[in-house]
Amino acid sequence: MTQLVHSEERRLEASAPLDPVAVAIRLRPPVRSGLAERFEPSDPPKGWDLAAHPRVARLLRSRKFQFALILPNQIIFWLVIFLGLLGTVVPGLNFGTAITWYIWFCLVFVLMVVVGRAWCVMCPFGGFAEWVQRRTFWKRAQHRLGLGRKLPEPVARYGFLLSVGTFLLLTWIEEYFNIAGPGNPWATSFMVLGIVTSALAFFLVFERRTFCRYLCPLTALIGTVGAMGSVAGFRTRDRQICLGCKTKDCMRGGVNGYGCPWYTWPGSADSNLACGLCSECYKGCPEDNIGLYLQRPLTSVVAPTRRRADVAWAVAVLWGLVIFQQVNATKAYAAADGWLNRFTHLAYPNPIDYVGIIALVALGMAGIAKLVERTLARPDLDPAPAARRAPQLSPAARSLAFSGLSPTPDLMTSPVAVGAGGASAGVEMTGQSATGKSFISRTSRFRMYFLPLMYGLIPVVGADYFARQLPKFFKHASRIVPAVGHLFGAGSTHSALYNTRILPDPGIVAVQVAVIALGTAASAWASWKIAGRELVGISRHAVAARAVAVALPVACGLTAALLYVIMHAAS
Ligand code: SF4
Ligand code: SF4
Ligand code: SF4
Repeated sequence: MTQLVHSEERRLEASAPLDPVAVAIRLRPPVRSGLAERFEPSDPPKGWDLAAHPRVARLLRSRKFQFALILPNQIIFWLVIFLGLLGTVVPGLNFGTAITWYIWFCLVFVLMVVVGRAWCVMCPFGGFAEWVQRRTFWKRAQHRLGLGRKLPEPVARYGFLLSVGTFLLLTWIEEYFNIAGPGNPWATSFMVLGIVTSALAFFLVFERRTFCRYLCPLTALIGTVGAMGSVAGFRTRDRQICLGCKTKDCMRGGVNGYGCPWYTWPGSADSNLACGLCSECYKGCPEDNIGLYLQRPLTSVVAPTRRRADVAWAVAVLWGLVIFQQVNATKAYAAADGWLNRFTHLAYPNPIDYVGIIALVALGMAGIAKLVERTLARPDLDPAPAARRAPQLSPAARSLAFSGLSPTPDLMTSPVAVGAGGASAGVEMTGQSATGKSFISRTSRFRMYFLPLMYGLIPVVGADYFARQLPKFFKHASRIVPAVGHLFGAGSTHSALYNTRILPDPGIVAVQVAVIALGTAASAWASWKIAGRELVGISRHAVAARAVAVALPVACGLTAALLYVIMHAAS
């Protein structure tokens, strides 16, 4: 029977175009077992559906909902661009630099930690490019502008790692041109313009929000840190209805809503990782089977039953980057970087020590996980059962995902891939054998430790990024008032608010350490829970597994806190 199914899959792969609904229905009769085990740990409480309230429902149904959120930010960001080029060169008096570097970064981090991808629903970069791609501000249009290509599978299979790469590049450019500290209006303008232009270019070449899902420099950071947030995203209310749904309008698009721009199928989502909160699936579902759910903080860190390698590596590399950003404010780094620059005839930040420190920290994390696995893993530990649960794409699903058709997933019917490996999320799984080939789907003894340990670090990594933004906020945030005044001919460098600090240096350090302490406590709690679910059962010593899982974020938190004390509130 299995052979028959596979040969039928191969036949369908060879014939084009494929009808995804037919594929889903004829070849993959729903396997309705394992739903509770798969989804219950990450399902938000039934009563926590915001869309159950008529006013919220009305708001979400409005096609102008996302437009209204994007518009104010769009106006501000075009102001940033124009004022950076045409306004004053004094950073603290230029509205563009003041709002970008002293306020915006902090606000985005607060949004991430509280909500998740709240920034993405109102983001002017993706918003502007999507308006152009759809050729409309809010209407449900049929024809799009652009080539509508799929991201090639060999590229897409690295998931968030692409975004980590663009984030590293952007941060290096920002450091090299010293754009952020204390803020360079002209360079800030070009940086924002560069992001908007690249977003637009990608939206015009690739379909939907391929840029947001894979390439935006912020998407890996927002996705991972946003897992702490209390908004679960848009989720299916009743999976049984989705099992019988023939149209899958939430993925393919319906009369009232576009197919999910993020390739996320609400029916199989088990975290808020890749839901841009755009509400298109809510508008499009003909069964009114989607809600906007709240969840307890950290649920998307602790609860998912299938962890993704790209997320784990993203956490490790992002941790390396923020540690670099702390280390580079120390005198020891300045001396070493100066020596290296004289030796290599390069300038700060020397790409060798930039990449070197980040790689060292990320590989150090992997090394620790390997050591834990070698020391604690049960001798008979077999990754094969885990591999069967890991995200994989069936060949037919891959074909669908890249054939120009929206996938129609019976995802919950078998092991599910959410965005694994392809420019598609809701792709159906065959439950095939444990030899997942893609980067995300491979499973090994090492990964069985590395993935849970890195997920547990998300809160402390998020806290570190937030703490790193605080000196600029506490030293310069009040300058936004004279900067706004300057737009109308008032406001100067002599005004009281221009020279007012919210906190002195020792106060800033105290807040940074407190933020790290909170992040460390959250990480320790999350790691304890994750270890209880995933590491205790595969380890020889349950207590040691839990102890190591908690010790890792504590060690990371102590390192970050110590560096903040040494940095003494350096911006
Ligand atoms: S992924 Fe990036 S471009 Fe897309 S909405 Fe989020 S921040 Fe904006
Ligand atoms: S959420 Fe999607 S799959 Fe489920 S009923 Fe609605 S359109 Fe169908
Ligand atoms: S699941 Fe997709 S369509 Fe639905 S809100 Fe999230 S990003 Fe939008």
